[in-house]
Amino acid sequence: MKRQKGQANRMQNNKQIAVIGAGISGLSAAAYLANAGFQVDIYEKHASPGGRARQFSAAGYTFDMGPSWYWMPDVFERFFQDFGSRVSDWYRLRLLDPAFEMVFSEGETLHIPDDFSGLCRLFESREPGSAARLADFMRLAQFKYERAMADVVYKPGLHFTELLDPKLVSAVLRFQLFSSIRRQVRRNFRHPHLVALMEFPILFLGAMPASTPALYTLMNYAGLKLGTWYPEGGFGAVAKGIAGQAERNGARIFYNTEIRRIVTRGNRVTGIEAGGKVIPYDGVVAAGDYSNMEASLLPAEFRNYGKEYWQRKTFAPSCLLFYLGLRKTFPSLGHHTLFFEEDLDAHALDIYKTPVWPSKPLFYVCRTTASDKTVAPVGHDNLFLLMPVATGLSDSSLTREAYFELMANRIMRRLGEDIRPYIDYKRSYSITDFIEDYGAYRGNAYGLANTLLQTAIFKPKIRNRKLPNLVYSGQLTVPGPGVPPALISGKVAANILAGHFKTKIE
Ligand SMILES: Cc1cc2nc3c(=O)[nH]c(=O)nc-3n(C[C@H](O)[C@H](O)[C@H](O)COP(=O)(O)OP(=O)(O)OC[C@H]3O[C@@H](n4cnc5c(N)ncnc54)[C@H](O)[C@@H]3O)c2cc1C
Repeated sequence: MKRQKGQANRMQNNKQIAVIGAGISGLSAAAYLANAGFQVDIYEKHASPGGRARQFSAAGYTFDMGPSWYWMPDVFERFFQDFGSRVSDWYRLRLLDPAFEMVFSEGETLHIPDDFSGLCRLFESREPGSAARLADFMRLAQFKYERAMADVVYKPGLHFTELLDPKLVSAVLRFQLFSSIRRQVRRNFRHPHLVALMEFPILFLGAMPASTPALYTLMNYAGLKLGTWYPEGGFGAVAKGIAGQAERNGARIFYNTEIRRIVTRGNRVTGIEAGGKVIPYDGVVAAGDYSNMEASLLPAEFRNYGKEYWQRKTFAPSCLLFYLGLRKTFPSLGHHTLFFEEDLDAHALDIYKTPVWPSKPLFYVCRTTASDKTVAPVGHDNLFLLMPVATGLSDSSLTREAYFELMANRIMRRLGEDIRPYIDYKRSYSITDFIEDYGAYRGNAYGLANTLLQTAIFKPKIRNRKLPNLVYSGQLTVPGPGVPPALISGKVAANILAGHFKTKIE
């Protein structure tokens, strides 16, 4: 058992590591380091684990604060397997069918089936001949996914020579790095609803389809072939499972503890400062937002990147979120519904080109109670509304409310009934909250946009260039945004730090 290996290592290794942040990447890094025998303490400014993936409870409802799409189940399984356990030891997964629904302007709703043959039939019904093209498209997307998982995403992104692996060199030619998702999708499909279906993950994961390399069609494979799952109890159950694994491996978690400074001497990190006290450590994983970890915790001479660097970067969007408790259930609303009555390009331009509050937004609604009755009182619904918006905008309560009305009207059109008279609980969350809670640069929600020049070796580096015992993890470094990448990022960062102490984590 790997756990026993960890215990054996721990006796040989008395190095102490501090992890700043109990988000998914920090918990993951801690789990690997503790398993390798390091003594690991995690410090988290909030009261529970998960970071952006944590939950809050109010008025009898339990809300996931961020993620709701459980994609890439293989990555979660691999994480737990690394410690001799399984996902099912920590939480139960349910496959959603339909996986999700898309509402279009003509009042048409597409129900995206879980099984691929159903999806092919759906494509064929909208555009004759498209099912065969979908099968080809998916074969290539699967190739990219499998190669990326095997040969790219677990690499630290420190040097371009990592990409010179002979297996990878031949694969890269099929990655379509210099084509865009837009070009590949539109070369294969013409029906606007099918195009929207194939392009939607990009808007939510952060870039214009035209500037996202076609490599990322791997997300179509992840989303449409590997299944859309629901972890019972919500993403909070996932965060608790990952935290539980880190603790089982020997890590300790200190909640409600904000780190104020990474302490250095010469060219080494010697500890951290919390609550006015300096606590000595041999190494640190900075697992909060990269830009903020550097700007607020490190002296300027030790930062990898200055203000100008972050200003030049293209960030993924922020969001306007509403957490709603309703004194009624609306069973005709599925678990995931994408309101796509407006043009994706127009919304994307309002995010990336001329950042303004969108004139015709797309948005997403999660009715968690469609799959899980434990997250609301009996006979009530639990809804989560998400509208992507540009970073750095002013988000007054007046603006938030105007968009709430817009979204509620469109939900009313879809349901034939207004949800507003049944509101029992309502909380909004947007740009200023991301800044307040995470120190998020300009209030970004998902880190950097997935453009070619912000992929792999072009991401902010996982290792501090001047302090060899300081590493970074999380959505702003390799491999990128999303819960599965955050899990991977923790492993990669742990590997680098362990390597510094001549220890291997696997
Ligand atoms: C609204 C929203 C929806 C999303 N939807 C999905 C989805 O459906 N599927 C998906 O896979 N991904 C989704 N994501 C993305 C995913 O949630 C993130 O990419 C991932 O959780 C980031 O993890 P992380 O470890 O990088 O950072 P974070 O989650 O940001 O964790 C960093 C932690 O560090 C703590 N911290 C920061 N500074 C300090 C300090 N000085 N001292 C102590 N603690 C500190 C923070 O409190 C936080 O807990 C979504 C994100 C958002 C915001």
